[in-house]
Formats: sequence, structure tokens, C-alpha cells
Amino acid sequence: MYNPQSLKAEEFISEEEVLESLKYADENKQNVEVIDAILKKAREEKGLSHRDASVLLACEIPEKNEEIFALAKKIKQDYYGNRIVLFAPLYLSNYCINGCTYCPYHGKNKTIPRIKLTQEEIKKEVIALQDMGHKRLAIEAGEDPVNNPLEYILECIKTIYSIKHKNGAIRRVNVNIAATTVENYRRLAEAGIGTYILFQETYHKETYEQLHPTGPKSDYAYHTEAMDRAMEGGIDDVGLGVLFGLDKYRYEFAALLMHAEHLEAVHGVGPHTISVPRVCPADDIDVKDFKNSIDDDTFAKIVACIRIAVPYTGMIVSTRESQKSRERVLQLGISQISGGSRTSVGGYTEEVRPEDTTQFDVSDRRSLDEVMKWLMEMDYVPSFCTACYREGRTGDRFMELCKAKQIQNCCLPNALLTLKEYLTDYASPETRKVGEKIIEDNMPDVKSDKVREILRDELEKIENGSERDFRF
Ligand code: SF4
Ligand code: SF4
Repeated sequence: MYNPQSLKAEEFISEEEVLESLKYADENKQNVEVIDAILKKAREEKGLSHRDASVLLACEIPEKNEEIFALAKKIKQDYYGNRIVLFAPLYLSNYCINGCTYCPYHGKNKTIPRIKLTQEEIKKEVIALQDMGHKRLAIEAGEDPVNNPLEYILECIKTIYSIKHKNGAIRRVNVNIAATTVENYRRLAEAGIGTYILFQETYHKETYEQLHPTGPKSDYAYHTEAMDRAMEGGIDDVGLGVLFGLDKYRYEFAALLMHAEHLEAVHGVGPHTISVPRVCPADDIDVKDFKNSIDDDTFAKIVACIRIAVPYTGMIVSTRESQKSRERVLQLGISQISGGSRTSVGGYTEEVRPEDTTQFDVSDRRSLDEVMKWLMEMDYVPSFCTACYREGRTGDRFMELCKAKQIQNCCLPNALLTLKEYLTDYASPETRKVGEKIIEDNMPDVKSDKVREILRDELEKIENGSERDFRF
């Protein structure tokens, strides 16, 4: 029985409701009247239910699909302007006892070396990341209670926050580790993490069980209910995601939105972010083995429909995607991307990109400086802002501001301040030139005279001194 308020996975991701929604979408995918009514609702920019959004995703009428893409672009612009937040993944350890069939870190893979960074190695990685200009990390580790216990993760977080190299600092550590207990989530919250990210991989229970044959992750309900335990443990911001290509994308899409609706119904706040990774090749993983893998057009449509369904939820795309694919989805709804990423353990301190411990192949291999320049040449404002979390604007406080579109009054000035830090401390001369122009071009969009005046003063202080970390 479908019940968004239930704490049982099988009830808030009810298979029956997903299938009913897909049936409803199939029945209406050519129905102009129904699609127009949904688009009318969507234009209020307050989101859509999983059923309505599923109709848009299934829609096969070319003109209506044009309207869907145009609306996604508008919502993206209205909520996020032209800002894109940058982050980098940091792999701590690839020891893992799970058996995920799509990931080369699975416990039975004997062909890859297993590495776990020491605190000294982490320090070096973090300095390398700070020297690139990063301020926001997502830490990643396999599940292994012996090699990667929670104490290890907590120690790593402490180390990361403690390093201040030159003008650098990591100001927000998001955490992507296995589902755990309320008590452990409480400890992570106390350690000052940003978002807790856990990909569902697939919401289709049977497929989930086939793809996760062994290890603690094989428990579908425990994994699916993890975000409720995280929130019970005091983590305000959680990030959802599915690995598109494992099961049928329309199923995943409907269930993902049901998960978001469930968090809102139970905790009063939906997901902070949604990630949209796709299955991609790696050590002993061949994409051809995944018959549900999706093409670029479908991927773009998914991004557009998520943007319309949950306008206030940040959306993340990683360096799995090629430059071309990233360009396309940035306009349609993506608000965060990784840049200069290395998806191997210890990858940032190696001169030559090491490949033997990569979790997945990186399509976009450009440096952070190149990514910054590329974004700005397309008129985006790259941002390293971490202000909300550090000003206590998290969870429902954040969502309230976000839904009222008020958060934008902070986002743009903060984006410009952090961009200025980057340009002053890390950018190449060409990137700096492009960036200074972007700052000037965007100043008029800071609406308040008072804020603009403070901003000018702080930009000057960054340029002429070592004072950093101004924020609104
Ligand atoms: S996806 Fe995560 S849990 Fe699964 S094998 Fe890879 S590292 Fe381990
Ligand atoms: S002000 Fe808040 S919402 Fe805006 S970019 Fe910064 S952290 Fe994100």
C-alpha cells in the first residue's frame, strides 16, 4: 500500500504506485490536453508530483517536448541564475566488502590494488585540492567496517577541515559513504558535514537485489530507508541519486521523485540535491552488459523533467559526463558540477593521472582552471560558495528561503566573492581575464545598492590582501 509518510521502504517506494504512475504516463503521453494542464501547473514553478512529471518524461509530442525543455531552462534561470557550484570528489579508500556488479571496487575484484589513505596522505591530497582552488569536497569510501570504520571517516573529516594551506581552505565536506545507523549519522552531523549523499543506485527492488548479491548493501530496505535515519540523526541536508542504466529509467525517475516526496512528507524538507550519474565503463565493468543504459537525448530529458518536478533541489552531474553532454544539461537544470576530478584513491597527488584504482572512467579530463574558463566563456558564474551551511541555513530553513527564491539574494554576491578568490589565488592569466569580466558583467544583477557596495569593498580586499571568506 502506497504511503509517502510511512517509514517502510516498500510503502513509500510502493512498486504498485510506480507501475500505476508509468501506466498513467503511457496513457497520456500523446494527450495534449493532459500535458498542457501539467505544463500549466509546472509554470507556477512549485514542482510537480511524480505522476505528472512521469507524463512529461514519457511525452512523445515533439512540440510539447520543446516546451518542456524551454520550461526547464526558465526554471533553472529563475532559481539558479547563471551560477554553477564547483566541487571535487576525494576518494579515501577503495576497500569494500559489497558485491555491487557495476562498480570495480566490489569485494571480489582481485585485479585492482586496494588503497586506504593515511591522514598524512589525506593532508597532501587536500593541499593539492586547495592549490587547485577547491573549497567543497565530496568524500567517498567503500563499505568496510574493518578498514573504513566510522572512526576513520570522522578522523579524515577532521583532518580535511584542519588544513589551511596558503589562502586555501575546505569549507564544506559532503559525505558519500554507505548506509549506516542513526547513531553513526549523529556522529557525522556532529563532525560538521555538509550534505550526506547516498545513491539509491536502483529503486527497483528485484533488480537491486540482483545487482547487490552480497554484503550489507544487499539489504534493499536498509539502504532505501537510510535517509530517514540520517535525518533522525540530525543531518539536515541529504542528497539522492540513482545510477541511470541499471533499470528502466522511467521507473527510476518516478521512484526518485516519490523518495523526494516521502522526505518532504516525513521530515518537512525534500532532498538538498539529486545526482544523475549514468552507468559508465571501469576496470571490470562493460557498459554493454547494461541493457538499460540511456542515450544523451534521454539523459537530457531526465534532467529537464527533474528540474521541473523539484525546482528548489540542486542537481549534480559528475565528470563521468563528457564536456558536450555537460554543456547540454547545464542549461536544463544542473546546478553543481565537479571539476578537475580524479576518481582514484590518492589521485590528486599523482603527476600522471593514475588509473588502476579509478571507480569509473572520467570523460571530462580537463583541469579545474580549464573547466572554470569554459564555464565563464559560456557566461556562467562558477561559484565555490559554501555560505548557507556555515551560516546555519540548512534543512527546512534553507528550503524556505529557496522556495521563496530569496536565497538568490545571497547566491550571486557569494558566487562573485568566491570567484574573485579563485581568480586572485589560483587562476591562469587567461582565465583571470575572462573571470574579471564576468564579475563586472554580473555586478548590475546584484539588486540591492547596499549589498553591491559591501560587495565592491570585499572584492577589493580580496584583490589587495589576504583576507578571505567573506560571505552573505
Ligand atoms: S558502489 Fe560503493 S558499496 Fe558498491 S562496490 Fe562500489 S564502493 Fe563498494
Ligand atoms: S548562498 Fe547558499 S544556496 Fe547560494 S550558492 Fe551559497 S551555499 Fe548555495
